[in-house]
Amino acid sequence: MSLLVVGSVAFDGIETPHGKHDRLLGGAASYFALAACHFAPVRLVGIVGDDFTAQDVAVFKHQQIDLQGLERATGKTFYWAGRYNQNMNERTTLITDLNVFANFKPTLPPAYTDSAFIFLGNIDPTLQHSVLKQVTGKTKVVGLDTMNYWIERTPAELKETLKHIQVLVINDDETRQLTGQHNLTRAAKEIFKMGPKTLVIKRGEHGAIMMHEKFLFSVPAFPLEEVHDPTGAGDSFAGGFMGYLAGAGKVNERTLRNAMVYGSVLGSFAVEKFGVQRLTTLRRSEIHARARLFSKLTSFKL
Ligand code: AMP
Repeated sequence: MSLLVVGSVAFDGIETPHGKHDRLLGGAASYFALAACHFAPVRLVGIVGDDFTAQDVAVFKHQQIDLQGLERATGKTFYWAGRYNQNMNERTTLITDLNVFANFKPTLPPAYTDSAFIFLGNIDPTLQHSVLKQVTGKTKVVGLDTMNYWIERTPAELKETLKHIQVLVINDDETRQLTGQHNLTRAAKEIFKMGPKTLVIKRGEHGAIMMHEKFLFSVPAFPLEEVHDPTGAGDSFAGGFMGYLAGAGKVNERTLRNAMVYGSVLGSFAVEKFGVQRLTTLRRSEIHARARLFSKLTSFKL
């Protein structure tokens, strides 16, 4: 089933101990879409400037990602630059130039209004809500990502949007900040009261944990020898997770558990090279082979 994603499409400047690259195709929606497209047809809603070239478009087209919802505006594409420290656990944001992204008002093309699976990437919660209001068909799952900026500045709008969400995909700091609870199990109970009945907490190199009203599931991060660029790992995780669910077409305990594994698989591939590069050369066989390695990695008998 089709999966709609709304979020940032950007050019990134990234510096890690492995090198420095500028004007890399990036943005949360780009990572998400390029991860999810391995499982289901993806529809992308975003905005770019007139500096976004045919070559940039081709990266998505090559993966059959639907770009009817990618608006082109006069001006520059969103630009973000960041630097990672030696152990890659800390990132300093150097530049955030919103450019055309500052005036983004997501509009769904008519062909997108029946999307059964939707992921609202990290943008203003009022805009996230406006996307849902444009959907006319019955949705199966709506996922949402957010960040500290929105939790601090627009808490009321975020809480209103959360009432319509089934799966919240955020990191541990954001979970604590949103609920005021340090303990993540207690925090999950607070989130369930806000709307989502499934909370997926991304924990970087420590993997991810899913807290559902009825069960818990934890998945490690894949142990890699070399991480070249951690940018977009969380967005690729969300893409693998939602993509798997949309591909399965149904949401139950089994598909949710498998979605966690495929999320971790896509996150692990994303960091192997700079930018979205590794996601664009991935083969299905590689994805499934790594998922099988996860099965071995976590299997034990009692
Ligand atoms: P992550 O590593 O998961 O935080 O995602 C990094 C991606 O998010 C980069 O490709 C950036 O272009 C994009 N990004 C950075 N800041 C923002 C922001 N304020 N809003 C939306 N996207 C952003």
